[in-house]
Amino acid sequence: MTKSNVNPVQAFKNAHQGKSSLTKLTVKERIAYIQKLRLYILENREELISRIQADTGKSRSDALMSEIFGILDHLAYLEKFAVKVLKDQSVHTPMALMGKKSKIYFEPLGTILIISPWNYPFYQAIVPITAAFVTGNTAVYKPSEFTPLEGLVEEVLSACGFEKNWVQVVYGDGKTGSELIAQKPDKIFFTGSEKTGKLIMSQAAGLLIPVELELGGKDPMIVFEDANVKRAAAGALWGGLTNLGQSCTSVERIYVQKAIYEDFLSELVRLATQIKQETDEDGDADVGGMTTDFQLKIIAKQLEDAEQQGAKFHLEKKWDGKSRLIPPQVIDGVSHDSLLLNEETFGPLLPLIPFETEEEAVRLANDSEYGLSASVWSKDNKRADRVARQIKTGNVSINNVMLTEGNAALPFGGVKNSGFGRYKGEAGLHSFSNLKSILIDKDSSKFEANWFPYTKEKYKLFTNMTLKLFGKGPFSTLKFILPGLKLEAYSNKVGKSGRK
Ligand code: NAD
Repeated sequence: MTKSNVNPVQAFKNAHQGKSSLTKLTVKERIAYIQKLRLYILENREELISRIQADTGKSRSDALMSEIFGILDHLAYLEKFAVKVLKDQSVHTPMALMGKKSKIYFEPLGTILIISPWNYPFYQAIVPITAAFVTGNTAVYKPSEFTPLEGLVEEVLSACGFEKNWVQVVYGDGKTGSELIAQKPDKIFFTGSEKTGKLIMSQAAGLLIPVELELGGKDPMIVFEDANVKRAAAGALWGGLTNLGQSCTSVERIYVQKAIYEDFLSELVRLATQIKQETDEDGDADVGGMTTDFQLKIIAKQLEDAEQQGAKFHLEKKWDGKSRLIPPQVIDGVSHDSLLLNEETFGPLLPLIPFETEEEAVRLANDSEYGLSASVWSKDNKRADRVARQIKTGNVSINNVMLTEGNAALPFGGVKNSGFGRYKGEAGLHSFSNLKSILIDKDSSKFEANWFPYTKEKYKLFTNMTLKLFGKGPFSTLKFILPGLKLEAYSNKVGKSGRK
């Protein structure tokens, strides 16, 4: 492994140097590197999965589907769309600016600091690094101290011909993260907890660094009585247990309409008892174990609180409170103010709550400090759409779960305490760009109406033109032309002769 050992100061020095060669590449040339990377990851996927498994303890299939496939999909999107998304754009020029042209250029911001969490360590490295790279930015990347995948990112990028100074990897904990921020990157792309997000934002505020915060969630799933119970229960199971629930968009609250509540519950219990959990080597386990010990304490506390509230635990297999292989649990009978229904769980707990009306379901779903993603299940497309619009969240899957993340063209991000900013898709590439506005006029002898001198006569003519442009009734070019020409002629005359 060629593990980098740069410190924060050196990392930014290198990254600044890296800009000179990177910005010389066209987007198309950068995409050639992205393609190499995609093929390299595809070819070396088994070895990569083993590395990811060793650091995280997740199941092999989880690593393949969420980390490797997710990355390949994102890289394929960049290959197909980055040139188009980052191309100079011509935009509308209004009548009052007749004869001029307006454009947007998408330029790199400079150096992006990427700080990532431990739950999808390879995905959370490669996706933002490549989005920063394709938009022409150098990147400084700090992995989580819990899943550093030491040397892996450097090795993979170097094997695909990326210059060393284009992407710096700096290892360390929160203190190192803070030292990196002090180097004043051009933007911080942070994925992690709400608590750290606030710390990062306050440090960034002092240095006026733009931040994008991809934080936690407490995602609701709403199942209406007309939904296919078997499919919805299987969706809830996967959405709640993929990566053993250690996902920001895990299903964490399952609201089921009363008429199908018992059927849904027994189907979910039936499916959950079949879950195969072990640290596998051949892709035959559904879920693996928890990645960190501190997460065990959070889950233990939520279970204890639920138990004290008289919650019903529907699966026989109980957790010993110590093992990282926490068995899944289906729970109901907890109050709306329980820890289980309010704090992010990040573990394999599936709490069910019955509801009666559509209004109640929306109210319960929105009764959360978080707003990352949600799902709505119903045969009635109009109802599903109506509810999707009313949920205060960044992403909604209809009749599916966590699926907005399955399309690399869709922007991803949250509202409320789940953060702000969007990455992935067109919006994501633009968020790593300086959107430079350009207005082009001809070199001529003309004087502009809004330039000095200001006179009583110009005030009258300008007022007249303003009324024609923005007044009541349909706008037509004809209405504008006469006052516009008068104002132009007068402005040229006084502009050339000056104030008398
Ligand atoms: P965390 O906030 O503890 O740590 C995230 C990163 O921040 C780590 O690299 C850590 O070293 C660094 N860090 C800690 N303190 C810092 C400081 N003061 N300055 C700079 N950097 C600092 O989060 P975690 O436990 O690693 O990850 C789990 C959280 O991430 C969950 O809340 C989960 O929902 C969230 N998450 C969100 C998304 C998303 O896209 N919205 C995706 C994955 C995970």
